[in-house]
Amino acid sequence: MLSSKGYATHGAHSPLAPFSFSRREPRPYDIAIQTLFCGVCHTDLHQVRNEWGGSRYPMVPGHEIVGRVIAVGTSSKKFKTGDLAAVGVIVDSCRRCPSCREGQEQYCDEGPTDTYNAVDRLDGTITMGGYSNNYVVDERFAHTVPANLDLAGVAPLLCAGITTYSPLRHWKIGPGMKVGIVGLGGLGHMALKFAHSFGAHVVQFTTSPAKKADALRLGANEVVLSTDAGAMKAYAKSFDFILDAVSSPHSLDPFTGLLKRDATMALVGLPDKPPVVMVNNLIFKRAALSGSIIGGMPETQQMLDYCGQHNITADVEAIPIQKINEAFERLLKQDVKYRFVIDMSSLQEGGALAGSDG
Ligand code: NAP
Ligand code: ZN
Repeated sequence: MLSSKGYATHGAHSPLAPFSFSRREPRPYDIAIQTLFCGVCHTDLHQVRNEWGGSRYPMVPGHEIVGRVIAVGTSSKKFKTGDLAAVGVIVDSCRRCPSCREGQEQYCDEGPTDTYNAVDRLDGTITMGGYSNNYVVDERFAHTVPANLDLAGVAPLLCAGITTYSPLRHWKIGPGMKVGIVGLGGLGHMALKFAHSFGAHVVQFTTSPAKKADALRLGANEVVLSTDAGAMKAYAKSFDFILDAVSSPHSLDPFTGLLKRDATMALVGLPDKPPVVMVNNLIFKRAALSGSIIGGMPETQQMLDYCGQHNITADVEAIPIQKINEAFERLLKQDVKYRFVIDMSSLQEGGALAGSDG
């Protein structure tokens, strides 16, 4: 077994604190990674606090992992020791259903295995995430990392990046299209960067007036305060596509009202309460309300390679792991520009397992 140390929570109302556990020895197709950086996704907060139900404790969160390979299984071909490797939201799937065969493992009929808070398909253990010094994963669910990118900024690509890249590609976003992004958080700021990079005219919707200058810097052509009904009205029936990346319950109607005929609004944000939808906004325009979850393994690699070619990374604030509880509180107050990333060297340096402030 591989000994691991990280931060875990023991219940929905407990802070994260230092935690020791073990991981499996690499199976033939596994690699073991020393974690260098792990992004802090709002999903981690939903899961730690059991906002979606089904949380298992102790829980080590974290599914935006970038690290260095420290061991490879006997049949592993994709990586060698010393390579960079990245792991996202899922680490296994049935591999047989139509979605898995098409490389859309996130839509596996049996449900994919999540990087943490899930049951390993082979040995029944509970998966533990990237807020830790190492990870063991089947190489099929690990990705190579472009050498030219800042690694702290790469980590969030593994969830926030692919979750926004995938729907923007699926709905063929490109020049000549007007695209709205709702919410400028971890996912939202990546959606903005990608939609801009794909050549669309991008309108960023935000509830935070102070984010306007950043939105323009990140590639928005226009920024609209979504709480300003007058400003919203000026955009009625003008959008080809809207992507909603908001973490809290909110009304979708102000946005579906902005869709053109036959246009789509896709949800990637997953608040803990379902929305009530004004159906008129859809049927009178044959508009679609859809959703999307992360991306498959081939597309995740394609996204990382695209980021390497176009020099795209997340805007991050690096934190030591000892500050994770503070980071969660700041995330709730929308006080992050635009992704917290845990620098895992903090686990070594400060002797986090003996740390005092968990
Ligand atoms: P985040 O960094 O906290 O960003 C969420 C943003 O939503 C905030 O920055 C804020 O943007 C906006 N917002 C927050 N509360 C709001 C409210 N009450 N009304 C309107 N807007 C509000 O979160 P994230 O990490 O990007 O995650 C966003 C959501 O996506 C979470 O629910 C997460 O679980 C989910 N998620 C889904 C997938 C998937 O595969 N579908 C993958 C990862 C995460 P402004 O300040 O600009 O208004
Ligand atoms: Zn995530």
